[in-house]
Amino acid sequence: MSEYRNRGVSLQKTEGVDGISCTGALLILMLILFVMSTLIGGSKESDETAVSAVNGGSSAEIANPALSATTPTYTATAINTDTPAPTATETATNTPTLTPTASATSTETPTATNEPMVVPIPENTATLPPTATLPPTPTATPIPLPTPNGTYSWTLKVPILMYHYISTPPEDADEYRTALSVAPENFREHMTYLAENGFNTIDLYDLSLAITDQRELPPKPVIITIDDGYRDNYQNAFPVLQELGLTATIFLVTEFIDQGNPAYMDWPMIEEMASAGISFEPHSKTHPDLSGQGRDYIIYQVLGSQETIAAHVGYSPRYFAYPSGRYDDDVIQVLQGLNFWGAVTTMGGKWHGFTDRFEWTRLRVRNNTYLAEFIDLVDPGDSQNGKKIEDQ
Ligand SMILES: [Zn+2]
Repeated sequence: MSEYRNRGVSLQKTEGVDGISCTGALLILMLILFVMSTLIGGSKESDETAVSAVNGGSSAEIANPALSATTPTYTATAINTDTPAPTATETATNTPTLTPTASATSTETPTATNEPMVVPIPENTATLPPTATLPPTPTATPIPLPTPNGTYSWTLKVPILMYHYISTPPEDADEYRTALSVAPENFREHMTYLAENGFNTIDLYDLSLAITDQRELPPKPVIITIDDGYRDNYQNAFPVLQELGLTATIFLVTEFIDQGNPAYMDWPMIEEMASAGISFEPHSKTHPDLSGQGRDYIIYQVLGSQETIAAHVGYSPRYFAYPSGRYDDDVIQVLQGLNFWGAVTTMGGKWHGFTDRFEWTRLRVRNNTYLAEFIDLVDPGDSQNGKKIEDQ
């Protein structure tokens, strides 16, 4: 029955939907309103606590540290109304300490980058000078020695005088220094005799071309050579030569000059003399005995001094003077291979030809070579313009 009643009730309910639904809907509405009001009231409360926390409630500060930390400017302006001194000073002290650390790191970086920037610059400029010293090598294309005309070439009589020091040797000078020295007054006497007696100073190039090409030499030709390149050549010989209008050939030991040895001329002196017509030819780099030496060593000594002189005087020298007059076939072969035109020895003689061009003889002028002996040395004798009188 209850079932039916229930059914009946339910039936009634379903039948009388309007009446029941009105009251039900009201109840539900009131319930919803109640729940909503309680919900809104709660949210209002939480909002209020949030606002009060922002307004400076001490509990709110502790509760929301994240808020004040993320927005420090907002809290600072809100704080002013109450007693916010601690938080204000806290944020104030925080910002200044931040800026110095930032500026400290910024100043550190430039100084750190400046130091390595400065270091490479001197390294670069240090490596530059060597390349700057390279350019002055105007070695012209080597001119080969002209071959003799036909089957015949002249053998010519030309005195090649050999000097060393043109100065009075010091008191404690050894016998070699003394023997190799010609006093300036004696040198002037020699040169004056040449100038006043119709002699003409020529150079070794003139002699080669006269031999191979039968070019005419001037009357009474003579070649003045000075070995080693001592400084007194510039001080005592050069002014006399210039004054008398004479030329000379000076054989240089280039390494001694490069090292700045004060006993020898320096390059500015040599360049000045070269531009005034004095010839400069190689006498090796360090004046060693070249006989019995290896080929590479001979090339180093010969070519090294030749190229050094070429770099300073502007032409490639073609004559060599054997250091201490010592040489062998290997030295001559190197000279020929390097297109030298000839070489001079320390052996005596006056006649010079094509076949003996790497062993041309010279006349040694000594400390005690006074004028009478000098006149005999340069006497043309049975020759005219270097040629045998019967060859004319
Ligand atoms: Zn020498």
